Amino acid sequence: MRRKECEKCKKEYTIMYRVQYTSEKKWVFLCKDCSLEVKKENDNYRYGGTWKY
Ligand SMILES: [Zn+2]
Repeated sequence: MRRKECEKCKKEYTIMYRVQYTSEKKWVFLCKDCSLEVKKENDNYRYGGTWKY
């Protein structure tokens, strides 16, 4: 099975969350834990879907 690396914790996962969480509006792939973490009190947070690899 293919895996993708989380932008934040640099670990590999088979299920990723596509999110924006900076003012740059750049889409990044995060794992579930990291996506929940960046979501907290973040006006830049935007969810773009769940990706399975
Ligand atoms: Zn992560």
